Amino acid sequence: MSQSFQDPIVIKKLQIKIKSLVSGLTDEKIKICHVCGTHEYTISHWGLRSLLPKNIEVIAGPGCPVCVCPNKDIEECIWLSKNGYILTTFGDMTRVPSNSGSLNSAKAEGGDVRIVYSFLDAIKLAKKNPKSKIVFFAIGFETTSPMVAIELLNQNIPSNLSILSSFRLVPPAMHLLMKQPDFSLDGFIAPGHVSTITGSGIYEPISTKYNVPIVVAGFEPVDVMLGIVSILEQMKKNIAKTENLYTRVVTREGNKIALKAMSNAFETIDAQWRGIGLVADSGYELAEQFKGSNIRCIEEIPESIGDDIPKGCRCADVILGKIYPEECPLFKRKCTLETPVGPCMVGTEGTCAIHAKFGGYFDLEEE
Ligand code: SF4
Repeated sequence: MSQSFQDPIVIKKLQIKIKSLVSGLTDEKIKICHVCGTHEYTISHWGLRSLLPKNIEVIAGPGCPVCVCPNKDIEECIWLSKNGYILTTFGDMTRVPSNSGSLNSAKAEGGDVRIVYSFLDAIKLAKKNPKSKIVFFAIGFETTSPMVAIELLNQNIPSNLSILSSFRLVPPAMHLLMKQPDFSLDGFIAPGHVSTITGSGIYEPISTKYNVPIVVAGFEPVDVMLGIVSILEQMKKNIAKTENLYTRVVTREGNKIALKAMSNAFETIDAQWRGIGLVADSGYELAEQFKGSNIRCIEEIPESIGDDIPKGCRCADVILGKIYPEECPLFKRKCTLETPVGPCMVGTEGTCAIHAKFGGYFDLEEE
């Protein structure tokens, strides 16, 4: 199936369609934002920006959970790894810089940090090592949190395993983007993975409130090009609605079992996004009944101090889609894939890392 979604003839036809839709639509720049690292990967890897008319900009919003994880949470985990806990988390997270180094550097200094591929691995590790204290550093969007929710509700958490929740929710970040005073957006490509859980209906109030077209799109080049076509068609008709183009896996209602588990296991809190600040109702903390598994209720972790973003790093602007990575003076100079200065240069979904690998906006040739 993926071959037909990568078909160059179909892509060429969509490119022509986009050009014809744009013609006469507006003299202004058209700004379309996606909020998913995998969309940025598709766009950069396939060079889709080079196929678009010059007045269409596709920018990357806060779609990388590793990038938006606050400095404070990383420092808490570093402290735990050095104070009697085995800290488990996903591989990308171990490389993200904080004011106190990364989890990898904590490991080099004697901290106990282990990479896991899923929450189930942390459960297995805790069951195998009943005398050890294990913490799972839980990061991710709505795609990752259901597994933790279901294990909590199934009472499958060993007593020596606790959780540090840094889960974040995507729709509040979209609200935040629409409220930015210094730039406006003409459309959103909503994240495909997250939408499999949330359903496309979750974006309808955003379309209505801000009068902005939103399309749920998949991750093949044809999916993304179709998403842009759909946004332009809505603009041309002067309408703004949520459209689900990823019907192969996304429904309007989403995954009802996962949604119910999340609402029973977690409570929604105002949460810090790295470089952005506090975003209302944008994070998950474990519900009161699970405080026995919540490391923040079990352990007195020293408060972190200092800046959220390393000096000179412009991740805050990259995460909000205000600049391209190439506009950061450190990009591919001091900050590289091997020696990341900021969180956006770490991990497969970081905008700076993707642009460093595949090139980006400023590598495009002038038409
Ligand atoms: Fe931060 Fe590096 Fe990206 Fe600059 S290139 S914004 S320092 S991650």
